[in-house]
Amino acid sequence: MIKLKIVIGGSKGVGKTSLIRRAVDDRFDSDTMSTIGVEFEVKTVTVTDTSISSGPVPVQFSIWDFAGENKFRQLFPAYCSGASAALILFDVTDPNSFQDLENWFSLIKGAEKDIITCLIASKVDLVDKRKISTKQALRYKKKRKMDFYIETSAKEGTGIQEAFDEIAKILVSRSLQTCPHCGQKYSKNLILCTNCGKSHNNNK
Ligand code: GDP
Ligand code: MG
Repeated sequence: MIKLKIVIGGSKGVGKTSLIRRAVDDRFDSDTMSTIGVEFEVKTVTVTDTSISSGPVPVQFSIWDFAGENKFRQLFPAYCSGASAALILFDVTDPNSFQDLENWFSLIKGAEKDIITCLIASKVDLVDKRKISTKQALRYKKKRKMDFYIETSAKEGTGIQEAFDEIAKILVSRSLQTCPHCGQKYSKNLILCTNCGKSHNNNK
């Protein structure tokens, strides 16, 4: 089991707590209480993509929820410590939350420079109130070379499982190496291939 930490950034009210609740418990409450400080939830995803690994790879995420209030932002770098991926949210009905992405992006990259960053559009169910287009979001993702972009609705449950599956895939493929002897994938942390038992740096 690979265990990884995910952090979530984005202005207050963009739907960070709602996204986690949908991802973990598959439910939605219209009156989430404002998050105070930090809490975390655990979610397990299994990567079954055969182009990444011959067998299923279980990944356990601890998803850390951070309060978007300004007074807590100074704690954000400490909260990012050791995280493998960051979800950075904006609300498609709220241009201010889109403007605010830049602050969250630089805080996160400043804290963990190799972190995977995922741009998440939230509340796409609010079609009539939408102010930020897919095109604008994709332009921002490209500008900041973020790893992927996905549109979600915690209310309707769209895009959220897909986001975690995608992160797991990226992280698992990054954490494995291909054995030069048998062609199977195994952990970069290991010296001997778990399939054929040979070493990656000589022919033993
Ligand atoms: P946070 O401050 O980023 O944690 O935001 P919350 O998760 O507390 O959500 C703020 C408000 O937006 C709440 O009233 C939620 O019910 C609402 N909300 C969150 N996600 C969605 C969504 O996908 N669609 C709609 N229509 N409302 C949402
Ligand atoms: Mg919250």
